[in-house]
Amino acid sequence: MTDVLIVGAGPAGLLLAGELRFAGVDTVVVERHAQRPGFCRGFNLNARALDLLARRGLAERLISEGWQVRHAAFSGLPVTLSLAGTHTDHPYSLGIPQTRVEEILEAQAIGLGADIRRGHELRALEQDSESVTATVATGDGEYRVRAAYLVGCDGGRSTVRKQAGIDFPGTEATRFSLLGDVEFAEPEALPFGATTGPGGSVFVIPRPGYVRVITTDRQPPADKDTPVTLNQLETAVAYALGCHIELRAARWLTRFGNAARQAAEYVRGRVILAGDAAHIHPPAGAIGVNVALDDAFNLGWKLAATVRGTAPAHLLDSYHAERHTAGAHVLANTQAQVLLGEAGDRLGPLTDLLTRAAGHPAGNRAFAETITGLDTRYRMRPDANHPWLGRLAPDLALTTDDGCTRLAELLASGRGLLLDLTGGSAVLESAAGWADRVDLVTAACPDHPELHAILLRPDGHTAWLRTAGHGHADGLHQALQHWYGPAAPCDAASAEAFPS
Ligand SMILES: Cc1cc2nc3c(=O)[nH]c(=O)nc-3n(C[C@H](O)[C@H](O)[C@H](O)COP(=O)(O)OP(=O)(O)OC[C@H]3O[C@@H](n4cnc5c(N)ncnc54)[C@H](O)[C@@H]3O)c2cc1C
Repeated sequence: MTDVLIVGAGPAGLLLAGELRFAGVDTVVVERHAQRPGFCRGFNLNARALDLLARRGLAERLISEGWQVRHAAFSGLPVTLSLAGTHTDHPYSLGIPQTRVEEILEAQAIGLGADIRRGHELRALEQDSESVTATVATGDGEYRVRAAYLVGCDGGRSTVRKQAGIDFPGTEATRFSLLGDVEFAEPEALPFGATTGPGGSVFVIPRPGYVRVITTDRQPPADKDTPVTLNQLETAVAYALGCHIELRAARWLTRFGNAARQAAEYVRGRVILAGDAAHIHPPAGAIGVNVALDDAFNLGWKLAATVRGTAPAHLLDSYHAERHTAGAHVLANTQAQVLLGEAGDRLGPLTDLLTRAAGHPAGNRAFAETITGLDTRYRMRPDANHPWLGRLAPDLALTTDDGCTRLAELLASGRGLLLDLTGGSAVLESAAGWADRVDLVTAACPDHPELHAILLRPDGHTAWLRTAGHGHADGLHQALQHWYGPAAPCDAASAEAFPS
């Protein structure tokens, strides 16, 4: 018996395990592989993922180990997208192996008390109104786990999704690529980046001690899972470039396609999906890890509050509402990149139009924020017209009674945060009934004198704010109740003294 059973120890499962443990929720993770694989799929964290990880103190270490790239691309458009001036504290993409991100997330989750069981594979699950029961296989046989909730973070072919009967509508892959982590027999046989020949393009990405070679798989076998051979990759490279490039010392060979699918329900009863289990999309923009982390970050505090019984009834459903919408945007923009990349004459005028739009500073910024998820804005109640509302608030420099700090540091506890920036205490007193769930802090924010008070969800999204010119605590109680449930009874009287 556990509160939450997470299936899959990829980025989504590991971050979620840490988030749940922050809130003291019993968490078991089962991962079918006994060891982390010897290859590495992804190599980057984008600006939004770094902003989120910074709100738990996890970004700094990764940033110190990685390398920064201050621009991005929208496949098919001959325009460089600048990350300078976008809505982020980290205006760059960080080059860092996915395996290293997973190591750090796993260490954090274990340090907080998560029970991570490698070599344990989910085989089946059944749920009723009270719990989910999972059948898990190990080398020594099977056992059953009963959990209040089960989260499938088990990748694109999710057993959880299938067992829960959740539809996965979308489009089949129409094109496949071959990928090889290899060495050139002749050093520097191809330059890094794209090389185009008479039959297509070959991308070469530098890796420590080897190169990643990617090109089109023109003749994928009927069974797309058939292992790729070094000879097949060499043949595909030769077809693209019209010359033979000898490859050797393959560390990893694989095939991937441009399928785009999204789970119809992210939450079905007590079964929840996150990461690739909830959505797969074309590889344009290299964002799978980043979206998986985003899902887990959105889900963690909501599921923890639900398990503890403090969540308002709609809170878990808001995970579907917010992240399904965000996932649909990811599918749309990655599919658009594929279309533009394959554009023939018919799409030429559209490519021209979008290129001009992306060449304009505001358009360039909009494209950059779309492909990195920096434009993520959740609907807040009450809705108001402020650019931060619903979005991640910037990592404000603050001064409190304890000295200088930053917004991200105050959020590192994983709790909600209400800041009074006026030096007064009326706003905080009016929220006393939520002090068990929300940190109430008086601070000064010299960079934003117009900002009087701000309420943040544990994921750093702005739920409410008051600026100069806005009236007294308008909507604060509505926002607190919406995200955290009713005020604790003993403090209800003091809360009523400041009606919203
Ligand atoms: C070639 C390639 C390159 C990529 N490059 C990038 C990139 O540069 N940047 C980027 O952001 N993304 C990249 N991605 C995508 C990225 O790797 C995925 O989107 C990301 O790993 C998804 O994380 P996840 O936690 O949802 O799932 P996964 O990382 O797939 O983790 C799922 C875990 O669940 C386990 N599991 C599955 N079934 C079971 C079961 N029944 N029981 C127990 N455990 C189970 C699996 O073993 C696995 O460990 C790339 C993908 C590929 C294929």
